Amino acid sequence: MKLFIFCSNCRNKIKLKYYVNDRAELLKKLGVRISLVCKECSLSKNYHVNDVKATESKLTLLFATMILFFGTGIVGYLVKDFIFGASVSYAIYVILGMILVPSIIYIMIKKQERDSIRRFNEYWV
Ligand SMILES: [Zn+2]
Repeated sequence: MKLFIFCSNCRNKIKLKYYVNDRAELLKKLGVRISLVCKECSLSKNYHVNDVKATESKLTLLFATMILFFGTGIVGYLVKDFIFGASVSYAIYVILGMILVPSIIYIMIKKQERDSIRRFNEYWV
């Protein structure tokens, strides 16, 4: 989850480099008023903590995608001897699990990210 505020002058996205679970935590960390300087127009202003918006983090997305690809590869490597030794129907189950487990982790990370963004954007202080 990435946090930002739109500059009141030029609408540029000012990023906030804080890692919090919700707005209440951000309030506890920074107080009601957050002093920020826009990199585009250099306007310095005190913003309200409710002006902060949350959006999907590219880093989380990248992490989830890496789990999907490398997870499948690693599990595949770990069970390769087993697959070749097992009967065909058994091997199919293992291969399905190999794809399914990282996929489930991927979906869970994506869902958790979406939930925390929604929670942040729907909760006001
Ligand atoms: Zn600006």
